[in-house]
Amino acid sequence: MAAVAPPLATQEQIAKYEPVIGLEVHVQLGTNTKIFCSCPNEFGAAPNTNVCPVCLGLPGALPVLNQQAVEYALQASLALHCQVRPSSIFARKNYFYPDLPKGYQISQYDRPVAEHGWMDIVLGDGTKKRIGVTRLHMEDDAGKNTHDGYRDSDQYSYVDLNRTGSPLAEIVSEPDMRSSEEAFQYLTEMKLALQFVGVSSCDMEKGHLRCDANVSVRLRGAEKFGTKVEIKNLNSFRFLRQAIDYEIARQVGVLEDGGTIHQETRLYNPDLDETAGMRSKEQAHDYRYFPEPDLVPLRISDEWLQRVVASMPELPADMRRRFIEVYGLSEYDAQVLTQTRALADYYEQVVQSSGDPKLAANWTTGDLMGMLNADGRQIELSPVSGARLGELIALILKGELTGKLAKEILPKMYQSGEAAPVIMEREGLKAISDSGEIERIIDEVIAANPKQVEQYRGGKTSVMAFFIGQLMKATRGQANPATATEILKNKLG
Ligand code: ADP
Ligand code: ZN
Ligand code: MG
Repeated sequence: MAAVAPPLATQEQIAKYEPVIGLEVHVQLGTNTKIFCSCPNEFGAAPNTNVCPVCLGLPGALPVLNQQAVEYALQASLALHCQVRPSSIFARKNYFYPDLPKGYQISQYDRPVAEHGWMDIVLGDGTKKRIGVTRLHMEDDAGKNTHDGYRDSDQYSYVDLNRTGSPLAEIVSEPDMRSSEEAFQYLTEMKLALQFVGVSSCDMEKGHLRCDANVSVRLRGAEKFGTKVEIKNLNSFRFLRQAIDYEIARQVGVLEDGGTIHQETRLYNPDLDETAGMRSKEQAHDYRYFPEPDLVPLRISDEWLQRVVASMPELPADMRRRFIEVYGLSEYDAQVLTQTRALADYYEQVVQSSGDPKLAANWTTGDLMGMLNADGRQIELSPVSGARLGELIALILKGELTGKLAKEILPKMYQSGEAAPVIMEREGLKAISDSGEIERIIDEVIAANPKQVEQYRGGKTSVMAFFIGQLMKATRGQANPATATEILKNKLG
């Protein structure tokens, strides 16, 4: 019988130690076809329908490298500021598992496509930190064992090989993270960058983004790293955090109890919120890596690489910095507006057609996103285009609309899909900046409210708000407030 595990460490005990974390992230590249054959690379097809002799590993079938997969891997590498190797090599990683029909995975070993990158993260308290990216390599995915929903599945396992041969990029970080929050931010920033670049949907629910965490602890001030444990099955951002925190408490508990940490692979169980030993960790030599004899070395010419460099969009971190430095946005607004590439592109359109980045940010994050959220809609499906929202803002800036009128018009644009001028024309909505007309209405307001006029002249200047209110009522909010205040002051003063 296994010995009873020591209790989890207390916060006080944990405080004596420093956690060390490195992540291994698998990203499924969004190509149309698989990495070494022309089977569709799609999620959700009927089991074992997207297969062929190559991805089934039938004898004699030969792999052919998918060029789009390489381009995506290169873009991902550049997004992580990695150096791309002019020549990289595919290797066979041998292991036996039912979802791996070839008996080996085609991966890259000592010469990956890219290495020496980094990713900057911002922590909750605003501190910035750079996390090293050790390497990015390409490999093919395995199939999936399924248990649920099939006949006699309490007795049998079923294997679906549709995913076998899907292209993956594995991204290995340096052991640079020191808390679950840093790991969380690193994965968040990486996901965002890869989505921006468009190499993967990074949909965790579909398994398009998978993450293993390597965790160790050492006494604060110690130089040497502790023994690491690899945690698998972290299929959400929340689980990543919880599993790391649990594992830190477990390891410190073992050490404080006088025990030692064994290098092993553990599985996170979200129902129990704990990790459990799965197997002792394989060493690289267990895999009998050797160069894949059916594939030539992958050569990336300088010309090819330069073409990919030129195709790279601005990265979210760079975009945030530009929004803050050039547009004068707050850190918060810059963050919100770069949550997806589509939103950032939308916002840029609003800026362009309004000419005012700050107002553009206010209207986009405030009124527009409010309506979209209420509808459960993504920005891609906004009935108001960025250009039209910008036009609405420009009309305020030109004095043809008041802010109040614009707030009335935007929901109508959202409902009907019409441009602001169309609605203004039909409904007779227009700011009245003509001072003659405003003056005429002010005369009426003054004549109708002699008591308040007396109060104002008696020194109660707060009555001004009452007059503005009356005026706005009479003009349905169309009077230009600046012009109106000036005229009122003159008349009353
Ligand atoms: P392995 O040979 O077991 O695969 P690697 O050195 O390749 O180990 O590292 C795998 C991952 O583990 C990397 O993300 C790395 O940053 C991380 N890592 C390495 N050593 C430690 C450690 N002592 N504590 C936590 N993470 C570590
Ligand atoms: Zn195939
Ligand atoms: Mg390794």
